[in-house]
Amino acid sequence: MDLIRNVYCVGRNYRAHAEELGNAVPTSLMLFSKPTHAVVDSTASPIVLPANAGEVHYEVEVVLAAARTYEQGMTVEELVDEMSVGIDFTLRDVQTELKKKGHPWLAAKGFRNSALLTKFRKFPGTAACKQVDFSLRKNGQEVQRGNISDLIFDLQTIIEYTAAHFGLDAGDIIFTGTPQGVGPVFDGDTLSLYWGHELAGESVIRLI
Ligand code: ZN
Repeated sequence: MDLIRNVYCVGRNYRAHAEELGNAVPTSLMLFSKPTHAVVDSTASPIVLPANAGEVHYEVEVVLAAARTYEQGMTVEELVDEMSVGIDFTLRDVQTELKKKGHPWLAAKGFRNSALLTKFRKFPGTAACKQVDFSLRKNGQEVQRGNISDLIFDLQTIIEYTAAHFGLDAGDIIFTGTPQGVGPVFDGDTLSLYWGHELAGESVIRLI
């Protein structure tokens, strides 16, 4: 992964997660984006996140990286060459206020360091990904575990929709949604992201 261009994120793409936040399970795909300034590598420890803006929640997600320009009829395997396990950090209290007002989510989702990425790895294809759970441990304790088999909108649907509405090209990445178990991080927490049994990346959180 060289230069990251667009950062897309899918909201509410796992049934149990939509329900845990009291949201209806969606019938159409919901996309939002983050500025590229939000991107941070998990090795850039500590990861500085906003204090005094209410709860900062972790959302562990599978992230796809497009290797080329999407063309009509392309499969995920043809478009995507790499993937990462990442975190879509969210200012949950800010988001709740924005939702009430009907305002965009930028302030809740687009702040600096809100798109954490572990080292990109080769994308093995959708079928192979379904054989591997991704998970997040906070201070050594598992808090989230997911598998893309449980996606409401699958990877193929995500790339087709994103390309059709917004464009998809080399350097674009897509956070594909978080499973249930989201919760707050606190100053000094260690977050460890796993792809199967393999530690994909680990970061210490600093709230400033
Ligand atoms: Zn998310």
